[in-house]
Amino acid sequence: MPFAATILTLYPEMFPGPLGVSLSGDALGRGAWSIEARDIREHGLGRHRAVDDTPAGGGPGMVLRCDVLAAAIDAAAGPDDPRPRLLMSPRGRPLTQGFVRELAAGPGVLIVCGRFEGVDERVIEGRGLREVSIGDYVLSGGEIAAMALLDACVRLLPGVMGREASGAEESFEGGLLEYPHYTRPREWEGRAIPDVLTSGNHAAIARWRRDEALRLTRERRPDLLDPSKG
Ligand code: SAH
Repeated sequence: MPFAATILTLYPEMFPGPLGVSLSGDALGRGAWSIEARDIREHGLGRHRAVDDTPAGGGPGMVLRCDVLAAAIDAAAGPDDPRPRLLMSPRGRPLTQGFVRELAAGPGVLIVCGRFEGVDERVIEGRGLREVSIGDYVLSGGEIAAMALLDACVRLLPGVMGREASGAEESFEGGLLEYPHYTRPREWEGRAIPDVLTSGNHAAIARWRRDEALRLTRERRPDLLDPSKG
């Protein structure tokens, strides 16, 4: 069974969106993965299909109702559905390449996209939602975060990336940021490609790339080398 993504959102028309083009779009067309965007509002209450209400305890904004979200989740995934249930949330576990690999190796994901101030805490507990964040900033909704997560997963699915190897050397894969890339022309605005890269000496090239990856990681992301500096 190919990787299956189910998205619960108030804006299903946003999907597949950017995931419908290029690498992920081609893979979608080939059936290497599937996406189903379901409208939470179909489970809204009353004539106006209300999905949110004012926060208990007061304060600004609106909160997605637990009963509405639970109905949407239950309609999308039965109790035997093996897929992890994620809630995109700035409070969540930070999305990492390691977690992306784990998800991509599994059957797929069910993703709840929050809106407004967020969702009623009880549905997170009651439906076992795992909160996932794509970074320390606040988006207006979970949809773009869900797309980022899916894009990262889909490119790792078997046969999606042009060359299998191109995943292995990338940023984060060896715990390091990636080395710099160059291509033609050999000289541009007075800047030349480093000699070693045109030397044909593969051992020297591998050493240079490893050193550059280490240098860049030390400069930009020392926390990757020593998590206590994070
Ligand atoms: N009041 C909330 C933010 C709500 S933003 C708080 O302070 O934590 C509205 C929705 O956008 C969230 O429910 C979540 O689904 C999504 N979202 C916002 N920022 C995100 C992030 N960094 N990562 C993942 N999802 C995010």
